[in-house]
Order: sequence, then C-alpha cells, then structure tokens
Amino acid sequence: MFEKIVGFIKSLYPAENPVPLHAPRFSGNEKKYLMDCIDTTYVSYVGQYVSRFEDEIRQLTGAKYAVAVSSGTAALHVALLLADVSPGDEVITQPLTFVATANAISYRSAQPVFVDVERSTLGLDPDELNDFLISNGILKLDGRCYNKITGRKIAACVPMHTLGHPVRIDQIIEICQRYKIPIIEDAAEALGSFYMGQHAGTFGDIGILSFNGNKPVTTGGGGMIITNDEILAAKARHLTTTAKEPHPWEFVHDEVGYNYRMPNINAAVGCAQMECFAGILENKRATAQMYNQFFQEIGVPFITEPAHARSNYWMNAIVLKDRLEREQFLAYSRGKGIQTRPVWRLMPNLPMYRHCQCTELNTAQGLEERLVNIPSSVRI
Ligand SMILES: *Cc1c(COP(=O)(O)O)cnc(C)c1O
Repeated sequence: MFEKIVGFIKSLYPAENPVPLHAPRFSGNEKKYLMDCIDTTYVSYVGQYVSRFEDEIRQLTGAKYAVAVSSGTAALHVALLLADVSPGDEVITQPLTFVATANAISYRSAQPVFVDVERSTLGLDPDELNDFLISNGILKLDGRCYNKITGRKIAACVPMHTLGHPVRIDQIIEICQRYKIPIIEDAAEALGSFYMGQHAGTFGDIGILSFNGNKPVTTGGGGMIITNDEILAAKARHLTTTAKEPHPWEFVHDEVGYNYRMPNINAAVGCAQMECFAGILENKRATAQMYNQFFQEIGVPFITEPAHARSNYWMNAIVLKDRLEREQFLAYSRGKGIQTRPVWRLMPNLPMYRHCQCTELNTAQGLEERLVNIPSSVRI
C-alpha cells in the first residue's frame, strides 16, 4: 500500500525530487513588483502595495476592513488585544492547531482552555463547546461569561479552520453569543475557503489570515486582520503602527503600540500572488479530487471538505490505522523522497500548555496519532 501511495504522489509531482510538502510558487508578477519597490525605494512601510494587497483581500473575503501585518501570529496577538483579552482571562480554543494560536493567548498572559475537535471538520466541536459551557460557564452581572471552576473570565473563543477546512462556525457563533463570548477566527490556513458561501474568517468579530511561506498565498511572511467593524479596524491599524497619531513631523504615540505593519516588499509579492489566486485554488482543489479518488480506491480515509463548505484544500491529509502504521508510513515515504508530516502535537502535550484546562480530547488524540499530511503544492 505504501508503495502505491508513494508512486501516486510522484506521478502528481514528476518534476520534483524530493517532493516538498508545500512549496511556494512564483509564476506571476512577483519579480516585477519587487523590482518596482527597489527602484522607487518604497521597500518599507510606505508604498502602494500594502493598501492594494488589503483591497485584494477585502474583495476576496468580503470583509469590510483588512489590516495587513507582519505575520499571522501578530494578527492573532492584536485580535486578542482588540477583543479585550486581559491577563488572567481564559480563552477557549482547540488542542489541534499550530502553536501560534495558543502562543498568542499567552502573549496576553491569558490561559488557553482546550475543547475537543470533531472528526468531520478537524476543528472546534460546537457540541463539545456547548457541553463545556453548560458545565463550566456562568453569566455574571457584568454581562460576561466566567468559568465556574477557576473563577476566570472566558474572554474569547478562537476556533481554527484546520488545514483550510471550515469549522461549523454558525453553530459556534450561536453558542458563544448566548454566553457573550467574542469570537476570533484563526483562518490562517483558510484563504479561499468558504462556509455556506461566506469566506472563513468573516463570521466572528475578528478574523486573521497568514501569508507565511507555506500558506496558499505567501508574502514571504505576513498576516491580515479582517473585520466588518469599523472601530475595531481603526484600532487594529493604530496598534499595529506603533500607535502613532497622524502628524506630518511630530512623533506622538498615545498608547503602547506594536511595530506589526506589513512592509511594502512583502505586500508586493502578495499582490502578484493574488493575481494568480483563482488558478491556485482551482489547481489545489483538482489535486485534492485526484487524491480523493485514489485513496477511495485503496481504502485509506482522505480528509475532504465538510458539509456546506468549500475548502481551499491547503494541506491534504490521510488518516492511517494507528500510530505504528503512521510511523512506518512517515519513514517509508521520507526514504523515497516524499515529504510527509504528522499533524501537530496537541497543545496540551507541549510543556508550556500541559497545565491547561481541557475537555476529554478523544477525537483530537486520535487525529494526533493517525493523521498525516501529504504533498499539497500547486502542481506545475
Ligand atoms: C500559520 C499559522 C499561524 C501563524 O501564522 P504566521 O504567519 O506563521 O505567524 C497561526 N495559526 C495557524 C493555524 C497557522 O497555521
């Protein structure tokens, strides 16, 4: 079986040896726009590409406002600040995620609380969330939800659209609204993914995107804060540009801000990538379809888009029988020049998050042991 899988992956990426997990592709105007930055000397925070890139993202996602920042992690950090997540608060998120989701919560000196994911979306399970809040949440007189057991405020909920597959965000929003918990969507992996026809990251109060080198669109490094709330957007822009008051020459800053603005050279690459994005999406979805058919034929579960969702298929994945089979497949495929990777170690299995409150994590644990990511670059 392993031999068949490796043969099939090689047939999808015949020109690459080894076959990378996810390589960026630069087939458009990237060089031209970069040269333009250098020729005009607008390489840093001034220049036309940043606002143009923000416009592109607003158009694609339908978000009213988009603020470009230096990374997805920075976007999460600021999003949590905007949601008023404060030291000593708790933030509900999922155990199966990239570490940045939990780290951003720690940057606010808040505590992550991990609620299990569901198999159908790989993301936060609304039913588990509901059960958790029924047993642990209580609305107090200040109109906010507190954890009955720890006494801490549950200041936000951060669902993540895993591998580009949308969570059941409508259900999550309904539950969180009942408990007055703001929602920040970690859509770092989900550019081009839609749920019920609406772009991932635009359902909650704030959404974030990432443009790291391995994401569906890259700016080298970069991120975006998206929201429909004008005031939050203005605050995001202010906080990410050192909280400087607009003035032609004076340096006046009215609070502790951050140097999180995306530089023009990064945005230039993003603009060029966005010109090709329709093709990128089509290519990725076609690859996933071929994988799906192949894995159906050999009887290996392949992760497909959930109901009511249209996924970007950022990173394709299969679920093997058990940890042993996974280890054997990783070793075999890597030996044959195919980059494969187990999914992330669950957050509460990392030393800095070991002490955090969790629900039973049966589904996340099963996925941690058995899920393997397989090559997913755009095919050339
Ligand atoms: C990539 C990623 C981030 C962080 O983005 P960076 O741009 O690398 O800082 C955050 N959350 C998730 C789920 C990611 O996959």
